[in-house]
Amino acid sequence: MFSDLLDGNARHLESFTPTTLSRTPRRALAIVTCMDSRVDPLRLFGLEPGDAMVLRNAGARVSDEALKGLAVAIDRLGVKRVAVMHHTDCQSGATLDDLRDDLARAAGLEALRGIEIAGFVVDVTTDVVTPIE
Ligand SMILES: [Zn+2]
Repeated sequence: MFSDLLDGNARHLESFTPTTLSRTPRRALAIVTCMDSRVDPLRLFGLEPGDAMVLRNAGARVSDEALKGLAVAIDRLGVKRVAVMHHTDCQSGATLDDLRDDLARAAGLEALRGIEIAGFVVDVTTDVVTPIE
């Protein structure tokens, strides 16, 4: 039932070069984004494995669960920046106003003091990423 995944891994390994990546993301960055299959945050931001931690959920919400992950990323893995990326045509019901509310709440949390936080939205038809004011 999942043989397509193992076949895909076999194809991947044909061109894979082993590297040793640090568990600490090179860009001191965590990205919170939606679980939507069209949203690939590393590709959208021109990043590579090892550059950023990615936390995904329905709607890119800075939920209590996401905050638990961010706390680990900040306390143990050197994260200093958090990008929250919403997207167009999201089926989670989350809106840009929800994203703005999440950003405002996160900015006021003691656990995120001193951490740079920014919001973005990607258009899934063009891959254009726009900052949220
Ligand atoms: Zn979504």
